[in-house]
Amino acid sequence: MTVLSVEHLSVRYPAQPEDVVRDVSLSVATGEVLGLVGESGSGKSTLLRAWLGLLAPRGGVVRWNGRALGALDSAELRALRRQVQPVFQDPQTALDPRLTVRQALAEPFRIHREPFTDEILGALLGEVQVPSDVLGRLPSALSAGQRQRVALARALALSPAALMLDEPVSALDVSVLAVVGTLATQVAVLFAGRVVEVGPAAAVLKAPRHPYTRQLVTAAIEPTIERPIAPEPGCAFRLRCPHAQASCGQTPALSGAPHASACPVVK
Ligand code: SF4
Repeated sequence: MTVLSVEHLSVRYPAQPEDVVRDVSLSVATGEVLGLVGESGSGKSTLLRAWLGLLAPRGGVVRWNGRALGALDSAELRALRRQVQPVFQDPQTALDPRLTVRQALAEPFRIHREPFTDEILGALLGEVQVPSDVLGRLPSALSAGQRQRVALARALALSPAALMLDEPVSALDVSVLAVVGTLATQVAVLFAGRVVEVGPAAAVLKAPRHPYTRQLVTAAIEPTIERPIAPEPGCAFRLRCPHAQASCGQTPALSGAPHASACPVVK
C-alpha cells in the first residue's frame, strides 16, 4: 500500500525565479525505504519539506495515506502528522538547546496527550543505542552523533507509519551511498530539482543508467561540491556530461520501469 506519494510536484521559493523542485513524482509503499541522493542544492531538502507539508507546492499533489494534503482540514492534518515524523538534517538545531533529553523525548507524548514514563523514554533511547543516563542532559552535553540519535528516538516515540529523514547520517562518519545501499529499497537520484534516475536500490547503485548517477556511484564527484548546472530547456547535466550531444538541448523525461532514467542517449 502506498503510504506517501508526490505527483508532478514543483516547488519555488517566493524570491526565486525558478523552481527548486521540478515535476517530481515518487511514492513509498509500506515497508519500503526511499533514499534521495544528490549533491548540495539538488532539491532534496526542499522536496522533503514540501512532502512534509511545510512548504506549499507551486504545482502538483502531496499525498499521505492516499489523502491530498491540500484537501485536509487542520484536525485531519494533526492526526496524520502523528503518522509521518520528520528528522531534520542538523542535530544541532533539531533539538531545542534548552530542553533536556528527557524533555525533548517527552514532547511528542505531551503534544498528543499520551502517557509516558522514564522507562518508556529510556527504551526509546535503547532503540537508537544511546544509554538512558543521558536523559537528564542538555543537547550541548551530547556528541553530534548522539544528538542525531536522540532526534531519531523522538521521531520514533509515537510509532509513526513513516519517517522522513533529512541527511540522517550526516553526523556519522560513514559514506552516504554505502548507507543508502544498505538501508534503502528504492533510490531516487535528484539533479537540479529533477529526478534523473529512480528504481530498486540494487539496480540503481550497481547498474546506474544515468551519467550523473554513474559519476556519483563511482565517486568521480563529491555529492557535496557544487558544480555547474545548465539552464533549461535541455538536460541540466549537459555541461558536465561526457556524452552530451545536440539532442541534449531538449529536457529529457524519465523512461523505463521499474528502473527509470532521464537520459535518452546513454542506455
Ligand atoms: S541527456 Fe545528454 S547531457 Fe543529459 S545525461 Fe544524457 S547524454 Fe548527458
